[in-house]
Amino acid sequence: MDFTFSEEQAQWREVLRDFARHELAPKYAHWDRTGAFPRDLWRAMGRLGLTGLRVSPSYGGSGADCLTTGIAAEEIARGDFNAAYAVVLNALLAEVLEAHASEVVKREWLAPMAAGERLIAIAITEPGAGSDVAQIAARAERDGDRYVLTGEKSGISLASVADAFVVFAKTQMDAGARGVSAFLVPREAPGVSVHRYEDLGNVAIGRGSVFFERVEVPVDHRIGEENRAFYQLMRGFDLSRVLICLQCLGAAMQSLDETADHVRRRRAFGRPLAQFQGVAFPLVEYHTQIEMIRWFSYRALWLRDRGLPHTKEASMCKWLGPQVAAQAIHECILLHGHYGYTKDLPLEQRLRDVIGLEIGDGTAQTQKIVIAREWLGKAYKPC
Ligand SMILES: Cc1cc2nc3c(=O)[nH]c(=O)nc-3n(C[C@H](O)[C@H](O)[C@H](O)COP(=O)(O)OP(=O)(O)OC[C@H]3O[C@@H](n4cnc5c(N)ncnc54)[C@H](O)[C@@H]3O)c2cc1C
Repeated sequence: MDFTFSEEQAQWREVLRDFARHELAPKYAHWDRTGAFPRDLWRAMGRLGLTGLRVSPSYGGSGADCLTTGIAAEEIARGDFNAAYAVVLNALLAEVLEAHASEVVKREWLAPMAAGERLIAIAITEPGAGSDVAQIAARAERDGDRYVLTGEKSGISLASVADAFVVFAKTQMDAGARGVSAFLVPREAPGVSVHRYEDLGNVAIGRGSVFFERVEVPVDHRIGEENRAFYQLMRGFDLSRVLICLQCLGAAMQSLDETADHVRRRRAFGRPLAQFQGVAFPLVEYHTQIEMIRWFSYRALWLRDRGLPHTKEASMCKWLGPQVAAQAIHECILLHGHYGYTKDLPLEQRLRDVIGLEIGDGTAQTQKIVIAREWLGKAYKPC
């Protein structure tokens, strides 16, 4: 067993922490208040290598391992939770596209995505099917050398700013999960339209619905085999679930650090707040839980880097991490007193943002179903 980060990884963490503190944190609230999408920031993250971590060098990325990508998700979220989407979403898309897209799609989309120049969203959820993904109703019909897509996707991160979507649609309507295929659909394709949401948090990532009205895509824009998307592409979510956990923990750790500073300085009843057990113990409890989940998350990434099974571990990270992170940030708000409740501090925004990823990429209940299936056995999968 070796619990140390390599020297390179430790330096990477330092570089990112500095970037998060100086370049990201000062504008975190700005994107929330204005709703503008930080494209220049995304490009700056591209220059730092953050948008191409899981893209191999032949397509313009760095081919970093999952553990190094996890460090980025955690550290970037310390400065700006939503900027960490550039790490998490692109890592997921890189794995999906590199393993399953045609050479045409890889050449056209992977390199600019890795450079932070082009944004790709992943569109699976629909108004009638979220947790129960196999029930999606969007369909793709083969017509010669093209597919014709029709349907509506909802809740899609980056919907309002993406240059393309990886869209899940049925190629065999009555076959459940065995009839799902995926397609890369450029946003400019005729028949694509978008409606942006007013969200509680994650405002900068411009979530929304995407409509596909008889949208034509060439056959070489199919990602993976026909009818196999569910099985081939969903493996990428074992990565994004752990990265999301670290993203949420990064925001919580930053909040705990700021709160620790606050309670050391702030005095009441003649002493620093930190000296009261009622103040120190909740902070200590969250610090303990987050450190433990954090190391468990890095272990899950370590397993993935070695090609070892980690589906159960990924789902454990995804349900517990965001939940404990949200609780911890809530506590940090309370320990800042009335001032913690203002929008002058980043705590309230972090709480709103983290709650979003208690839902996004699968709720706690969905993850527990996965864990039960993996651990108790398929025959005992909860309904
Ligand atoms: C911030 C954010 C970002 C997102 N980004 C994307 C994206 O980029 N792409 C995309 O495709 N989607 C995205 N989503 C959508 C997200 O993946 C879905 O919202 C999520 O999978 C839940 O689906 P649903 O909203 O349809 O809820 P439902 O499936 O209707 O579930 C509603 C509630 O019922 C519970 N539930 C459902 N089934 C069961 C069961 N069997 N047992 C117990 N409880 C159950 C759920 O846990 C949940 O609490 C995002 C959502 C958010 C909030």
